[in-house]
Amino acid sequence: ETLDKGLEKSNTSFFNKLSKAVAGKSKVDDEVLDNLEEVLVTSDVGVNTTLKVIERIEARVAKDKYLGTDELNKILREEIAGLLSETNSGEETEYTIPADKKPYVLMVVGVNGVGKTTTIGKLAYQFKKKGLKVVLGAADTFRAAAIDQLQVWADRVDVPMIKQKMGSDPASVAFDALQSGVNQDADVIIIDTAGRLHNKVNLMNELTKVKRVMQKVVGDAPHDVLLVLDGSTGQNAFEQAKQFTAATEVTSLAVTKLDGTAKGGVVIGISDQFQIPVKYIGVGEGIEDLQVFNKYEFVDSFFK
Ligand code: GDP
Repeated sequence: ETLDKGLEKSNTSFFNKLSKAVAGKSKVDDEVLDNLEEVLVTSDVGVNTTLKVIERIEARVAKDKYLGTDELNKILREEIAGLLSETNSGEETEYTIPADKKPYVLMVVGVNGVGKTTTIGKLAYQFKKKGLKVVLGAADTFRAAAIDQLQVWADRVDVPMIKQKMGSDPASVAFDALQSGVNQDADVIIIDTAGRLHNKVNLMNELTKVKRVMQKVVGDAPHDVLLVLDGSTGQNAFEQAKQFTAATEVTSLAVTKLDGTAKGGVVIGISDQFQIPVKYIGVGEGIEDLQVFNKYEFVDSFFK
């Protein structure tokens, strides 16, 4: 299973750390809870979510008077699945878009380097593979490289891409892309935007303007605002989530680079703290290395 392979390293690390945290202990006591807290924090679950999990486990210890460390895995698993359930229904296994939204407009936000372009390319590939007509819009106009790299993916996947020259108005590119998408009878239009975190007000203004201008073409666009975060960057990912959610309404997350990292806990912490579902996870650089996030598979692989 690719997910197992992709998350292997992070699972091993989490599992190893967890095993060490309870080594030589038969019951969950304050020391085990302290160790567990450290395991969660160093796995990048985030302080708030870690405290929430610890409190819930403490409550169970208090209720049952005794909790064996052999049961801790099971209980921790239930608590983490419970947290993920607040935002992720977990049934998703496929790349789907609602049939009643045509064209479906997906606006993608995130800072440079997190894997935004790669994620857009992989998504375009997945949607095209399902027989959907895809159009890309290169509205991250700040760096020429961002436009060029997206073009590489557009060519590779063989989907049309709408662009203007570097430095042009992102909203204008988004407008063109939507108009072109509508003219071509596209099913999905993916708009790449804002690759930099300048100041918060600028970011907010830019994204608000892109949305407003898109709505001149497709009244209820965007249907999804996908924030791409690098899962290997821990606290940076939390910080970026904070900035982007303050600047615009983010409706879903893609967490990349979960292959070869011990930081899979970011998925748990960020979806909990921001109450936004994780929709996709990136598990490699290849075109197939994007998966629809499934909370059951995720939790399973985390505790293997
Ligand atoms: P952008 O600047 O956010 O558009 O980032 P890119 O899409 O250009 O990706 C930056 C680097 O991260 C590239 O070398 C990608 O191949 C790599 N990358 C993207 N997603 C993943 C992933 O899920 N796993 C790994 N290992 N690398 C990734």
